[in-house]
Amino acid sequence: MPFYRKNLNNMIKKYSADFIFDGERLHQNALIEFEQGIVKTLRTKEEHEEEVLYYEGLLLPGLINTHCHLELSHLFGKVPTGTGLLPFLRHVVSMRDVDQREVLDAIEEQNDLMWKAGIQAVGDISNKADTAATKAKSPIQYYSFIEMFDMMQASFTQQSYDQYEAVYHQFDRANGNNKAAVPHAPYTVTQDLFERINRLNEGTSTISIHNQETAHEDQYFINKSGGFSDFYQSIGINDEAFSPTGQPSIYYAMAHMDAAQKTLFIHNTMTTPDHIKDAYAWNKQVFWATCANANLYIENRLPDYKAFLDTNATLTIGTDSLSSNWKLSILEELKTIQKYNSFIPIELLLRWATKNGAAALSFDTLGSFEAGKKPGLVQFKHFDGSNLQSCEVERIF
Ligand SMILES: [Zn+2]
Repeated sequence: MPFYRKNLNNMIKKYSADFIFDGERLHQNALIEFEQGIVKTLRTKEEHEEEVLYYEGLLLPGLINTHCHLELSHLFGKVPTGTGLLPFLRHVVSMRDVDQREVLDAIEEQNDLMWKAGIQAVGDISNKADTAATKAKSPIQYYSFIEMFDMMQASFTQQSYDQYEAVYHQFDRANGNNKAAVPHAPYTVTQDLFERINRLNEGTSTISIHNQETAHEDQYFINKSGGFSDFYQSIGINDEAFSPTGQPSIYYAMAHMDAAQKTLFIHNTMTTPDHIKDAYAWNKQVFWATCANANLYIENRLPDYKAFLDTNATLTIGTDSLSSNWKLSILEELKTIQKYNSFIPIELLLRWATKNGAAALSFDTLGSFEAGKKPGLVQFKHFDGSNLQSCEVERIF
């Protein structure tokens, strides 16, 4: 019936731009068709194509933020930069008594800003359930990582597990969301707590852990040197029972995490090619989240990206929290990485921010322009084919 056909055609929308990135590759002179937000096809643009919505710069799938702490959004601008991880943690630990309204308003505001900044999905660390209501109605898909730690104290394990297990049950899997219980970092989680986390997560798909964010972390595990003992003492924790393993901290994590789960190592500023190779020997489904602006904010150094390229490692992008960043923006992270590492091919960089992030979080309908997916559509204005520095991000839908 002609009437029916006409309506059907109107439902298909055609988008083109100077460049289209499909999750893997950049295309020029290309066109993408969507039907109600679902990708129909990506094809070459014909010469006299009609009804095309044309955009300047780059069109790409919605961006994936694999590491955030949305619940810390109220800490924007409250922690000094460049102090190093241990003074940073001391600052964060000392901040209490914040009005709950302020906490919830900041969560709502940053959720909106992330959506507007083209972010389609977020892997979000949660120590509390403050973000649960926002996530339940957000257009962003959230993978909540309910984070546990007992500060390496056997006497705290039961109490902290009970506390975070209750938080875990306050998040649900509705609205496209997912959740898992995760360890905070090697230096804050006992073997016993790792085992409890593994048991709670049976059947879950992705586990994250903060990894090798500072030189002190490896020193602590190798021979109990570095600043961690003093740090623990300064917050009233006795670490006499801790005995070093003789190896960098990532090996302690691998010894106690479940190798059958996808694993997202976060930060990795001290990670070497040998650690990367050993991680893939342990578990083929390893992802490395890099949070460049947070690394500069806290430690004023960046990971060795060449080590990850040389080992064919799978990287993803994270913003970390507003306690250690100026903005929750994936484009800003990409700009920083590119500014100091212009050897990284642009297609690879864009893949970290889209397809790899979606794979890490197992959000299978996001991250690329493959037929049948519903990844969102984002524009990087002023993109010239390689340089991101003057780009601005806009969400199309
Ligand atoms: Zn973090």
